[in-house]
Amino acid sequence: MTRIDVGVLGATGMVGQQFALQLAGLPWFSLTWLAASERSEGRAYREAAPWRLPVPIPAEIADRQVEGCVPGRGPKVVFSALDAGVAGDIEQAFAAAGHIVVSNARNYRMDAVVPLLVPEVNPDHLALTSRQCASRGWKGAIVTNPNCSTVFLAMVLAALRDFEPRAVVVSTMQAVSGAGYPGVASLDILGNVVPFISNEEEKMESETKKILGRMGANGVEPHPVAISAHTNRVAVINGHTEAISVGFGVKPPEQEIKSALVTFAGRPQEMKLPTAPVKAIEYLEEQNRPQPRLDVDRGRGMTVTVGRLRACRVLDYKLVALGHNTVRGAAGAAVLNAELMHAEGRL
Ligand code: NAP
Repeated sequence: MTRIDVGVLGATGMVGQQFALQLAGLPWFSLTWLAASERSEGRAYREAAPWRLPVPIPAEIADRQVEGCVPGRGPKVVFSALDAGVAGDIEQAFAAAGHIVVSNARNYRMDAVVPLLVPEVNPDHLALTSRQCASRGWKGAIVTNPNCSTVFLAMVLAALRDFEPRAVVVSTMQAVSGAGYPGVASLDILGNVVPFISNEEEKMESETKKILGRMGANGVEPHPVAISAHTNRVAVINGHTEAISVGFGVKPPEQEIKSALVTFAGRPQEMKLPTAPVKAIEYLEEQNRPQPRLDVDRGRGMTVTVGRLRACRVLDYKLVALGHNTVRGAAGAAVLNAELMHAEGRL
């Protein structure tokens, strides 16, 4: 099979580097184009990107020259790891020019004609792209993946959808890599917890409802679940941990919850997409798991790890979930989105 050329907008940042790593050696895509700001334009990738991943820069791109984010220059399919301050205008310009933008930025996630996709949960939402030409005039398209903390919560709630989740209280402990590079100052985070991440709580509360929503005649009808989120930055490098309490419309026995979590699978597993984890959710029985240091890389960072399921005295049940924020929560999520689109003939 011929591999499809793809590019990365914002290739030099934390998520851009994860894209470079995730795309290296994949069977369906070939990373041929790297773009970032004018600070990086014209420089070799190895010089422009402050490489922070614990494996070397893929040799095939290390010396490639970084280009500016100019529509028409790169391949038709581009992933976006752009800073949200610039992603809105740049992604729109690329979509208008005919590119398919598989974005990780927040700007279009809640747009009524843009899919906010988790392939295991709402692959049918991809149909929204057919409305983009008429309503936005884009010759191409934009497809987004959720905020990093939202993906993990949405996957857990999707697994439990049959029990009608009604109310959720979630508190996060989020890794510093989620703040980009250089991110949070060391004096602010070492030996500390910062109980505020700008706009994060709002994103978890609104994006989850769109992802779990049903496709109706007028687009996505948000799921009625009420969500209250507390988001905190902690001194962890990779991996967002979430303490979740859930109340259900139909309260099931504990064993049924566990069974729904461990058997959760979707189209990526059915279609055996190249980066789909065998287990979308893995349940750990040990009382003190999941832990970021021990469990964040399960399923090559694409598995959400869950544990500590028990009764809740306020809502029905409580549990802990963990996911890799720059893989399943960012670059890996977008790559899986693109694989689903390719498998469905949408690229
Ligand atoms: P980052 O490390 O700060 O990287 C930002 C990227 O945007 C860099 O490549 C930068 O290029 C580029 N950029 C900035 N201004 C630009 C401009 N005017 N024109 C073109 N390119 C420009 O941020 P990050 O953590 O990788 O996050 C990237 C995006 O992913 C953000 O929208 C973020 O909210 C989202 N996200 C991040 C995570 C995570 O865990 N980190 C998870 C989910 C979503 P230069 O290097 O040339 O400045």
